[in-house]
Amino acid sequence: MAAGRRGRANSAFVFAVVGDRHVAGVKTALLFLKKFSRAEIFVIRSRSQSRIQHDQVMTVQLPDALDDRQATIFLKTAIAGYVRGLAKYFCYLDSDVIAVHDEVDSIFDKRSGAINFALDHVNIDQFSPWAVNCGCSGGSCRHLRDAIANTFDVGVASGDWRLWNGGVFLFDENSEEFLAAWHKMTLAVFDDPYWKTRDQGTLAATVWKLGYQEQRPLDSEFNLVVDRMWGIPQQRRDRATISDFQCRRDYSLTGEDNLMAPRLIHFINGGVGQKGWKNWDDVHALIRRSRWQRRPEN
Ligand SMILES: [Zn+2]
Repeated sequence: MAAGRRGRANSAFVFAVVGDRHVAGVKTALLFLKKFSRAEIFVIRSRSQSRIQHDQVMTVQLPDALDDRQATIFLKTAIAGYVRGLAKYFCYLDSDVIAVHDEVDSIFDKRSGAINFALDHVNIDQFSPWAVNCGCSGGSCRHLRDAIANTFDVGVASGDWRLWNGGVFLFDENSEEFLAAWHKMTLAVFDDPYWKTRDQGTLAATVWKLGYQEQRPLDSEFNLVVDRMWGIPQQRRDRATISDFQCRRDYSLTGEDNLMAPRLIHFINGGVGQKGWKNWDDVHALIRRSRWQRRPEN
């Protein structure tokens, strides 16, 4: 509970999870975060009675009309309203974001401006076929930018613009205009079959609508996107095995060789718990080291 370091006493991490499967999935992220952070940690959950071994879990009701995937995105983009008053500074985390460094709480020192995100590993045109049902089979296209223009009347000037990744963001009371716009745009496309049910395309639309596209992002050490499926075509992903997975070797969890030392790793596309894959095995090894006094839950 106690956040001992000066300036971080009013800081809290927040997870938002919907449905039994998603609630089960947050347990690993929680285990690691509790090892490395001294900040408060809140878990906001809905549609699950599944037990979570944590002292700050809040259960909320979400609109019945939404399916679980939509409800997850609804809760995430409305998160400020659910945690208002519980701390001064917040860091939202997707449940596949894993803390790997005992300076993870230094992220709160980076809070500035309206809101703070790190960059994704792709630009907007590369992400486009994953955001809208344009039928393109990969590579780049401008259909997401066209959809943002058609749906929201917002122009995204460059296909090279790096997306902001929605898995980690710092917010406080000054973030409410941004988050309200993101929430509203996200709900607006739930019933539009051309848009896939994701929050990242509407995040880009929000950034450009409000004029934040040149804002300095969080350093990638606070949201290092590690994608086991990188380079594997969509139609082959169901059958992909460990030998197919992308393995990144450009960072280090133990600080050697002047490599980047990430604080938070974002294992997109299902990398959490993938034993036998180096990028996960290295993380898993952290929990076994003896220098921590507290034992893992579960
Ligand atoms: Zn396309």
